[in-house]
Amino acid sequence: MKISPSLDRRRFVQLGALAAGSALFSGRAVAATPVGFTLPPLPYKFDALEPSIDARTMEIHHDKHHAGYVAGLNKALASAPTLSGQPLKQLLTSLPDVADAELRTSLRNTGGGHWNHSFFWETLTPVATSGTPSAKLAAAINSDLVSIDGFKQAFAQAATKRFGSGWAWLIVQGGKLKITSTPNQDNPLMKGLVPDAELGTPLLGLDVWEHAYYLHYQNRRADYITAWWNIVNWQAVSDRFEAAAQST
Ligand code: MN
Repeated sequence: MKISPSLDRRRFVQLGALAAGSALFSGRAVAATPVGFTLPPLPYKFDALEPSIDARTMEIHHDKHHAGYVAGLNKALASAPTLSGQPLKQLLTSLPDVADAELRTSLRNTGGGHWNHSFFWETLTPVATSGTPSAKLAAAINSDLVSIDGFKQAFAQAATKRFGSGWAWLIVQGGKLKITSTPNQDNPLMKGLVPDAELGTPLLGLDVWEHAYYLHYQNRRADYITAWWNIVNWQAVSDRFEAAAQST
């Protein structure tokens, strides 16, 4: 990669962190990561998703909430050196093996929070580049979930009905698309912790914690969900679908 002389050090450090974060998130091994997990930078500016999500919400959500999950995860792992050094996905799928209940809960909440938010940022894009589902994904939605409109309605309903804090998901399960929902920072990868009916490969995830929308929407979760559809990165979601289809 050619580094422009005008690229200042701060940007260079950001790019390095981005590369490390992406590799970490995709599960590829990162050479020697003694400092633990790092907060991946947003792939766009804080105000890039306006008006669906305002800049202040994005800044607090990423710099405070997501950063808090990363810090909490590293703190929990500091007390469990035998669990350190593995990819996040591997850690999340082996949580039932963690005997210490308090540590297991801590890793579930903070590790889930780190994974879910890293996934969430990459699921979104400015409205101008939102696009549409690929032909293959659209065909699968029409086949497994009746229609695109029917899918959006059912997904929004799952997100609306999630009591308290949690997530709505579109997953691939047994080769079929399915809509699910999990509480807190649980996700469809947490085998042995969430019900089998909610396990699968996530394609799309919607954060319905109040911290994701309260500044702008207050109690109007339904309005946040409606506006959120405008900033879904359908290219990323379609790519995930193609990868999931190839691995089954
Ligand atoms: Mn969140």
